[in-house]
Amino acid sequence: MDRKHFLKKTGMGMAGFFGGFGITKPLSIRGKSDHYQSKNWVWITESEGTVDEWKSRLEHLKKAGFDAILPQENFDNIIPAAEALDIEVHAWLVSLQRGSDKKVQKEHPEWFMVNRNGESSLEKPAYVDYYKWLCPSRKPVHEYLKEQAQELLQYSEIQSIHLDYIRYPDVILPIDLQPKYDIVQDKEYPQYDYCYCSVCRQKFEEKYGSDPMEIEDPAHHEKWLQFRYDRVTTLVNKLAIMVHEENRELTAAVFPTPDIARNLVRQNWPDWDLDAVLPMMYQNFYDKGIDWIGQAVKECRQELPKTTRLYSGLFVPSLNEEEIAQAFEHAMGAGADGISLFTDTEMEKPDWKNLRRVIRRG
Ligand SMILES: [Zn+2]
Repeated sequence: MDRKHFLKKTGMGMAGFFGGFGITKPLSIRGKSDHYQSKNWVWITESEGTVDEWKSRLEHLKKAGFDAILPQENFDNIIPAAEALDIEVHAWLVSLQRGSDKKVQKEHPEWFMVNRNGESSLEKPAYVDYYKWLCPSRKPVHEYLKEQAQELLQYSEIQSIHLDYIRYPDVILPIDLQPKYDIVQDKEYPQYDYCYCSVCRQKFEEKYGSDPMEIEDPAHHEKWLQFRYDRVTTLVNKLAIMVHEENRELTAAVFPTPDIARNLVRQNWPDWDLDAVLPMMYQNFYDKGIDWIGQAVKECRQELPKTTRLYSGLFVPSLNEEEIAQAFEHAMGAGADGISLFTDTEMEKPDWKNLRRVIRRG
């Protein structure tokens, strides 16, 4: 999801991008007679359609073993169709990255993150034009996102607010993306390192007595790292209180393991008050094979509270018809509660067939 936009909007073709990806041999990691109890999700990128069109799309998903969808819009048509098919609807909210939010860009340019060179992400975004990010240290930003969530909660059928882009911009891109931008990120560089806006600098100085701009080695400064993890955590946990007061849930799309999330995007998501987490286990971005999905699930489980459900995000364009089923089994075998597809429109007939076989309802 997050990543998919990134690729699409930068004009990178999937064929070129995935051309060198090797095909692994099928394997079975499941016993003969057992099957998994799973709950499975889909991030919805193509949300147009009438109620009837949605009914037929959801009927197909239901038969394939899917239980929940994450649309961003068209709720008036999607909700009645989902109710008829007994499929949950969760509202996908792109939160801190506001590249397409012209209103907030115009009215509140001061809310946007600033890098270590003193450049605003609004005026000089990193990597791609839409990398314009709101600073999580600012109270009005919290209020703004609360309002956005509140608006979605007007639909009583929406079961969770699903936070996406709830993080800092990538201080380091996943290894497989770096050559695509002709960038070598062997360490943290100042133009990708956020946020050094006046509010962040002041808050840090009040607490620790020094200006983050003066820190010599910010990449290894524990307090400065933790301070930034906590900025996002505080925001998420405030949203959690609000959402829970409305008797709904809070879910999020996050980077694939806690270590990767902290190191690349300063996202310390095991500390968040989430009901369910959907880590984007897009193995190809990290030059990994399908079996890494199981390893990633284990790493997540080590840090997650027991009560937080975990659904492995799968990047459909990087998985062939055998791998999609293997990915499900690796995830479930390692302790996931299900999967989330990015996205159903990338799935082809053999993919559905193979996936249905392993999901097997009991
Ligand atoms: Zn800031």
